[in-house]
Amino acid sequence: MAAQPHDHDAPEGLLAVEEARERVLGAIHPLAPLRLPLTDAYGCVVSEDVVATHDLPEFASSAMDGFAVRASDVADATPSQPADLKIVGRALIGHEPEGTVGAGEAMHIATGAPIPGGADVVVPIENAMVDGDGRVRLLDGPAAGTHVRPHGEDVHEGDVLVPAGKRLGAPELGLLAIAGHPTPLVHPRPRVVVLSTGDELVSPSETPAFGQVRDANSALIFGALREMGAMPVMAGIVRDDVESLRETIFSFEIQADAFVSSGGVSVGERDVVKAAFFRRGDVDFYKVAMQPGMPQGFGHVEGKPYFGLPGNPVSVFVSLEVFLRPAILKMMGRTHLFRPEVTATLTEDVRGPRGKLQYARVEVRREEGGWSAAPTGARGSNLISTVARANGLAMIPAGTDVAPAGSTVKVMLFRSSED
Ligand code: AMP
Ligand code: MG
Repeated sequence: MAAQPHDHDAPEGLLAVEEARERVLGAIHPLAPLRLPLTDAYGCVVSEDVVATHDLPEFASSAMDGFAVRASDVADATPSQPADLKIVGRALIGHEPEGTVGAGEAMHIATGAPIPGGADVVVPIENAMVDGDGRVRLLDGPAAGTHVRPHGEDVHEGDVLVPAGKRLGAPELGLLAIAGHPTPLVHPRPRVVVLSTGDELVSPSETPAFGQVRDANSALIFGALREMGAMPVMAGIVRDDVESLRETIFSFEIQADAFVSSGGVSVGERDVVKAAFFRRGDVDFYKVAMQPGMPQGFGHVEGKPYFGLPGNPVSVFVSLEVFLRPAILKMMGRTHLFRPEVTATLTEDVRGPRGKLQYARVEVRREEGGWSAAPTGARGSNLISTVARANGLAMIPAGTDVAPAGSTVKVMLFRSSED
């Protein structure tokens, strides 16, 4: 039989990265919207247009300390021929003015106080000379409307304050607060249960015995989830034992919108995640044509998305960037799911594994002629310091033996170079 033609993007048995990502994203849906108080809704995406129920500002107010008067009374006022008016009271902030301003009258007014009826201009205090007998001389006659903040100038009733799909940042929170929307309807932050599997693992605060390893992945995944805007729920280290894993998962189920575990998804006999969920048929285990991060598990446990990431920390990081981050953003109702990419010039040769897309850790810099990308170390998927020094993942396409120094590659930026 003739050999099958070889597709470099998906060599036999391997799933192309794009296809694997589509499978994951196709099975992920935004979380059902909830009404949350503004401080909890911060960073969340609104699921419906938030519409103004009234005009803003709700009343005309003064932009200066001074006197509220009728423009017609002060039209001809100058320092040598001031307008002489009777003071009829005081307009205070936070109160409805007592009385109105008639012809020949003036009312003291503070910045932010409602403009009393009858007045249509404010003469600032520096252009006023108060006389002892309850009268004031105004030295200037600004046009009607001057120093008055009109009612409805900012927003009209019926205006869309925040459109569906927009994320609530600081300005949106301020706008919703002043417009009287204290509990907008938003996609909540997913609560994601994080666990590390491995008989060899100890917590970072312990001194490992020979052969043991401190758990890097829980902390790494925690940080990544926080950056995505999700709420990590830390389930700790679980031994390579199917019963312990199942127990842990089910004990956290009620708090979870999704699960992320690391380790135990490749082909060894101790591959506990695989052993626990493979037969149930709801988690798929497959190999993706990428390096690092080839073995992956994804599916649903008790109806919640389950991400079974590989064990090596660099594989975990790349899997987070390629699969988990877009999925979590989708759960949060976000529509821009992917990192920005730049085209950068390699400063050194990068060797790629044939048949797999390689995510090489690089430090990207903006140079005069464009972006440069300097590899931060060797390729091994256990070398976590190579990620800590990097700000981008250069994508060396499958089928490239060597991407030579001076050639250009696409790089996804996972943080800004200033961070
Ligand atoms: P596994 O896929 O479980 O065989 O793990 C692959 C490699 O990653 C092994 O060398 C593990 O010791 C290592 N590893 C797994 N989980 C962690 C973790 N949480 N922190 C650091 N290294 C890990
Ligand atoms: Mg393991």
